[in-house]
Amino acid sequence: QKEEWAKLINETSVTKDDHHVELAANIGTPQDMEGVLANGAEGIGLYRTEFLYMGRDELPTEEEQFEAYKSVLEKMDNKRVVIRTLDIGGDKELPYLDLPKEMNPFLGFRAIRLCLEKTDMFKTQLRALLRASAYGKLSIMFPMVAAIEEVRQAKAILQEVKEELTAGGTEVSDAIEIGIMVEIPSTAAAAEIFAKEVDFFSIGTNDLIQYTMAADRMSEKVAHLYQPYHPAILRLVKNVIDAAHKEGKWAGMCGEMAGEPTAVPLLLGLGLDEFSMSATSVLPARSQIRQLSKKEAESLVEEAMTLSTSAEIAELVQKRGFITE
Ligand code: PEP
Ligand code: MG
Repeated sequence: QKEEWAKLINETSVTKDDHHVELAANIGTPQDMEGVLANGAEGIGLYRTEFLYMGRDELPTEEEQFEAYKSVLEKMDNKRVVIRTLDIGGDKELPYLDLPKEMNPFLGFRAIRLCLEKTDMFKTQLRALLRASAYGKLSIMFPMVAAIEEVRQAKAILQEVKEELTAGGTEVSDAIEIGIMVEIPSTAAAAEIFAKEVDFFSIGTNDLIQYTMAADRMSEKVAHLYQPYHPAILRLVKNVIDAAHKEGKWAGMCGEMAGEPTAVPLLLGLGLDEFSMSATSVLPARSQIRQLSKKEAESLVEEAMTLSTSAEIAELVQKRGFITE
């Protein structure tokens, strides 16, 4: 089977009825690029930049960040690279930022909320990103967006930094896409509002499931409620994809769900454009997609939408033979 997958390394991710999707990889550091290239990913769908900030005593400099972003962009050779701005807080702490202790850190001062307040830190990252944009095809993505004002503020700060850089003679790409993670239910439910003001969505199911189900993604006691195929999750995902398409934008997914064999047919049927996953899942997912048809996946979704539980939906995908080996 591994040999079969290896043959697909330079193939496209296309269904039997000729529908093309993009299979991208998630990375945490530039060192992950070796695995990405070895597994034939068509882009980077999520570069989690927080690792640059972790395991040290002070913020990374603009130069350090620039070098890291540039190296990933260059290695991807003009394939799309989605770099997410700092998503710290929740489970990921930065002791040197001296942040307030909170009762519910997952519902607290984190990610874009923090960046919009600590604007010096945010601007340093944006400057590094904009400078790196000259070396490949960069998309910038903001994490944990809950309200449209956050998008507007983040875009205004980005614009300010861009003007400063270009005024100083620094080359900045004029084709940078600006997108958001959809991982908070408010944003998924009101996706049509956001779709007008961003270039793309990437659905972060790791958090979207935990916030929709009110079930901590780390807690074993409530793991039975952490349900990727819950009818509410499928409806939210559908709403996000439909909202993006209505505005002519693309919708991806970078949560773990995107690479799950049970999820792939459902997401294909819902019209997801980009699937971003750990590098080792790319070839198995490509193999599966090449054996599926978009039309059949759409009819699968139609039936899945009539079911009431996560278990029934997962069983349907299995029973109808969508999980290929
Ligand atoms: C997500 O929430 O689905 C996601 C991709 O982000 P992270 O796992 O880094 O929170
Ligand atoms: Mg997340």
